[in-house]
Parts: sequence; structure tokens; C-alpha cells
Amino acid sequence: MRSFSKLAIVLLALFLALACHGKEKAVQQAAAAEEPVDEVAIRIASIVVSQLPEDMQGNILDNMEAFKADLAGVLEEESRFFIIADKTHLLTEDYNPGELVALDGKGIRVNKKGMKLEKTTFEALKKMLDDSAKEGLSLMVSSAYRDYKYQVGLYNYYISKYGKEKTDTFSAPPGASQHQLGTVIDFNDVENTFAGTKEERWLTENAWKYGFSLSFPKGYESVTGYDWESWHFRYVTRRGAEFQKKYFNNIQHYMLLFLDSYRN
Ligand SMILES: [Zn+2]
Repeated sequence: MRSFSKLAIVLLALFLALACHGKEKAVQQAAAAEEPVDEVAIRIASIVVSQLPEDMQGNILDNMEAFKADLAGVLEEESRFFIIADKTHLLTEDYNPGELVALDGKGIRVNKKGMKLEKTTFEALKKMLDDSAKEGLSLMVSSAYRDYKYQVGLYNYYISKYGKEKTDTFSAPPGASQHQLGTVIDFNDVENTFAGTKEERWLTENAWKYGFSLSFPKGYESVTGYDWESWHFRYVTRRGAEFQKKYFNNIQHYMLLFLDSYRN
């Protein structure tokens, strides 16, 4: 009963805030209900209602106190692990991914030499690959950090081969690739033939424990702006990956969108 009344207040406050273009009414309403004004909850609710699909909203609004506690944990992590990089949120040419670590000579299977990853991401990946190898799995890194210039070359190459319209469904324009963050790995085939393999099923089940999440899931092409990529995983920290699973139907894009709005 109590949690219902809290939710009702949050929703009422939100409704009034939206309807009256101001928080004064919401504050008055909370005061009339003799409850302290929870500014954080109002802020969360307004982002949730305006940006997330309806089926995702209830889980957050009904569990506001738990959500706030989990959010506080995620906000303790470095913000660069949650930067949105897509076609509407471009990284600059000089975006700094932090310290990069070479993958060669580290006991990791790679499909080419010279690849690098952001240091924390590398450490999480190393642990994940070591554990997966113990289970007899064969995961290989096929792509990692890609700088802006590399993406310019790659994007232009695809356009010359497939045309711009087709290219835009699977390749990022410069600045729009998560790979520029240094926190992303493409595994094995870099094709959806990867889906259903025991390696892919293991990642689907376990990657979150190491802080990784699938960036472009099946069925969310219109949300992420990219075709399904069963092989493309981004490091979002363990707390971030849990947060994503718990409240955002495990859809990375919605979590990143929420965090971006909350911070700004
Ligand atoms: Zn990728």
C-alpha cells in the first residue's frame, strides 16, 4: 500500500510537472500529502516516462528506492563507460579512450595483430576469456579499438562497395562507432552465423558477470539504429551490466539513454 501511494505521488507529481511546466505544483502536491519531496525520484520518473517504452517504466517506478540505490552505484563508475556513441551522438575526432593496452602476447586469441583495448575493458575481457577457455570454448577477438581515422576509411570503403543507404544499416559513420571508445569487442565470425554457437550462448548467459553487454540486439534495430550484431559486446562495468538487466530489459541503448539524460 505504501509503495503504491509513493508511486501515485511520483506519477501525480510528474503529471503536474509536465502539465504545468514547473515543479511548484508537484512540490505543493507532495507537501499536501505530507510526504517529503523526493526530487531525485521526480527526476528519474520524468526521464523514464518521456524516454523509455511503457513496458520498461513500471519496473522502475514500482521499485524506485531500489532503483535509486542501484543508480547511485552505477554513477560511482567512470562516466566514459556509459558514453553514447551512435548516429545521433557523435564522438569527436580527438576523443580520448584512456590508456590502451595491446592485445598481442597476452594469451588471447586474436584474428589479426596490432589490436588494442582500453585498460579496464582489457582486464575484464582477459578474465572472461580465461574462464570461457576453462569451459572448452573458443572465443577470438576479431575487432577492438578503432580510431576515428580508421572509421573514416572503413565507412568510405563500404559506401564505395554497397552505397550509402545499405552501408548505414551496418556500418557507423566516423564518430558514431562504439569501437572508438576502446571498450568494444567483436568476437569470432563478425557475422550472425555466430548466433547459436556455444560461444555465443555462453556470452549471452555470462558476459554481464564480467561487465559486458550486447550493444545491438535482435528486434531493436529501430532503437539502436543498427542491424542485429550477435558478436559485438561493449564493456559497461559489472554494475552497469546488472543495472541494464534489472531495469532496462537488458537493452543497453535504453540504459545509456537514461544515464545520459540523468547526468545532463
Ligand atoms: Zn563491432
